[in-house]
Amino acid sequence: MVRFLKVTKRYGDLVVLDQLDLDVAEGEMVTIIGPSGSGKTTVLRMLMTLETINEGVIYVDGKPLTHMEKNGKLVPADRKYLRKARSQIGMCFQHFNLFPHMTALENCMEGPVQVLGMKKAEARERAEELLELVGMSDKRDQHPSRLSGGQQQRVAIARALAMRPKVMLFDEVTSALDPEVIGEVTNVIRSLVEKHNLTMLMVTHQMGFAKDISDRVCFFFDGKIEEQGAPEDLFGNPQKERTQQFLSAVK
Ligand code: ATP
Repeated sequence: MVRFLKVTKRYGDLVVLDQLDLDVAEGEMVTIIGPSGSGKTTVLRMLMTLETINEGVIYVDGKPLTHMEKNGKLVPADRKYLRKARSQIGMCFQHFNLFPHMTALENCMEGPVQVLGMKKAEARERAEELLELVGMSDKRDQHPSRLSGGQQQRVAIARALAMRPKVMLFDEVTSALDPEVIGEVTNVIRSLVEKHNLTMLMVTHQMGFAKDISDRVCFFFDGKIEEQGAPEDLFGNPQKERTQQFLSAVK
């Protein structure tokens, strides 16, 4: 579903992603772990087409995301193409950025109505289903300021899902939360993994959570995948010295 093919991203002289190859299969949950500055968030930013890549191509569902075909050649995508391509990707950040003047329900209806052109009644029905899925039905008429951080994050997940993305990205979704509400957000993500065949890519510093829910874990180092594998292998029996060092430092 997602394919990075020899993707390089530089900021000036700093190489942040170095000829990165990364595949995520349909319905797979892949978690990226690694030291600060290793390029984890950059992978998600590239998928959001927030910035251009320097080399390589990213594909989503078999079609280039960062490039478009012109006269049989791949050329960097223009803005119109990018806007459309980006709508396949749903993202939840550390800071949920809900629309403060809208209720939870309205937050989940806004994108489908304004961007996808969905009828209000249909968008409402879908928003209600998704709020139910994240356990927020009883708060659907509340504004974000009346919700806890964990509750806001759950609404943010429902809002991203409302756009029917092919791929969901989660970037440190629990790191701004109080410890006592982290569980309610991780449980929602866990239920997405277990009950819904969503393709997901997650960056987290919570190793226990990564171990618990991922199909595959990628350990990043210096803009490359140093080691990857099933969580029980990567956490239980890491092969590379850098992976071992990182894991013993974060335990
Ligand atoms: P963390 O765990 O601390 O969030 P990370 O692995 O997610 O780290 P990235 O956010 O992907 O790391 O950043 C990778 C590198 O790219 C870092 O050295 C960062 O300083 C640099 N970087 C990111 N964005 C920019 C930018 N807009 N301009 C210049 N350098 C940047």
